[in-house]
Amino acid sequence: MVTPRVGVLAVQGDVREHLRALTLAGAEALPVRRAEEVERVDALVLPGGESTTIDRLTRVFGLREPLRRRIAQGMPVYGSCAGMIMLADRVLDGHPDQQTLGGLDITVRRNAFGRQVDSFECDLDVTGLPQEGGPYRAVFIRAPWVEQVGPGVEVLATVAFHGADHVVAVRQGNLVATSFHPEVTDDHRVHAFFVDLVRQAGSIGSRPEETPQAVPVPGRHDDGEGQR
Ligand code: GLN
Repeated sequence: MVTPRVGVLAVQGDVREHLRALTLAGAEALPVRRAEEVERVDALVLPGGESTTIDRLTRVFGLREPLRRRIAQGMPVYGSCAGMIMLADRVLDGHPDQQTLGGLDITVRRNAFGRQVDSFECDLDVTGLPQEGGPYRAVFIRAPWVEQVGPGVEVLATVAFHGADHVVAVRQGNLVATSFHPEVTDDHRVHAFFVDLVRQAGSIGSRPEETPQAVPVPGRHDDGEGQR
């Protein structure tokens, strides 16, 4: 079976936990910090953390455009919690200058459960996960929920909160997002689901990484030979 190479955006957040979970789910997992590393992966995880910080550092490190390009080209991406916010096309209660990468046709509300409870766990039925192992024990930490989904978005799980159901897991083609943090538990079914999706997406090995990069030669363009 082919081993997909899955990166974890490593500017802030629970990167190590995702690397471990991905490895246990059968992927080759590696941190992604630089623009050229974005090109070397078949798929990417956007971890939990703080979406305003991840947004800011992603821009500072010049990762925003490479990431947006690969998302637009169909690279599979899984976002958990802050990662879900980064994938969302629209954010409520965001920081005034907060940007997302976008791609997922959803509106998320940041810190949606936050005023009442910061963190909690509950059992969920998540569409697409194997039934063996029972309901999925989901961990929510200052989590967003999904307030609105576009027509191409499949709802994978909801949670009842104060008498209303709220969407906490979605999929749109190769993009998957959860409000909760599967990386902090020992149940790796969500990561296995994503690694399977990456295998089925058929993009493995088509990463443009092996294309040699043009390496600037010092002085080359200043040698008076009209190279400009
Ligand atoms: N509240 C955080 C944010 O807005 C997300 C929390 C998390 O990823 N655990 O980015």
